[in-house]
Amino acid sequence: MDIGVYVQEYLRAAIRQPKQFLETRPKRLCTICGHEGRFLDVGPRPEARCPNCSSKERDRIMGLYLRNNGVDMKDKNLLHFSAERPFFRQWKHYPGYVAGDIKISKVANAVVDITDIKFGDGHFDHVICHHVLEHVPNDAQGIRECFRVLKPGGTAFFSVPLDQSRAETWEPPPEMSAEEVESICGWDHVRLYGRDFPDKLAAVGFKVDEISFSPKEGEDHRLTETHALAPQGLDRIFVCTR
Ligand SMILES: [Zn+2]
Repeated sequence: MDIGVYVQEYLRAAIRQPKQFLETRPKRLCTICGHEGRFLDVGPRPEARCPNCSSKERDRIMGLYLRNNGVDMKDKNLLHFSAERPFFRQWKHYPGYVAGDIKISKVANAVVDITDIKFGDGHFDHVICHHVLEHVPNDAQGIRECFRVLKPGGTAFFSVPLDQSRAETWEPPPEMSAEEVESICGWDHVRLYGRDFPDKLAAVGFKVDEISFSPKEGEDHRLTETHALAPQGLDRIFVCTR
């Protein structure tokens, strides 16, 4: 257990949403750190956060996949864009781990532009790219680059805010102002993805599957956002094999 993280998460929850502690909550099991116990509310999301590693719902979907498929990143070359903190903490000392972002940060140890990745063809065993492409103007080039740097047989993991009610991805017309784009797409997002998102992954040559889990796993590990405001498809993660 990381006492520092645990205390920080409980303090934050107690200050922001103290009423949650008046309610009895079942034990949950974190797929990333193995913590078993009460999870904490985050805004409108009940039991969203593991107090031991700060994981949230979609982090734990990824964690479940890695665990169920026996994927150990220790001896792998892994390119991880905009790393989620619970994974970064686990992997940061692995020699083949590159936590890339457009600038160095607490969870980025390398500057990497997804549309121009400065690594050779087939360098990586895995690429992880969660909630990145919605910020990238040329997302098709980003997906192509992820494919290029993967070894044959390697896997890339993608997720984006995906509007299930939308058949096709909406790209703003070139003349639209940045303010208007932001009012439609949300802060710092450059498009609205629809159900055709996996087709964009398949278009560069990936074999695309979605990480699936049973309703019981969904409950045991709290894998989906269940509140009324949750955008549909937020929790979908696509496993793409080269
Ligand atoms: Zn955890």
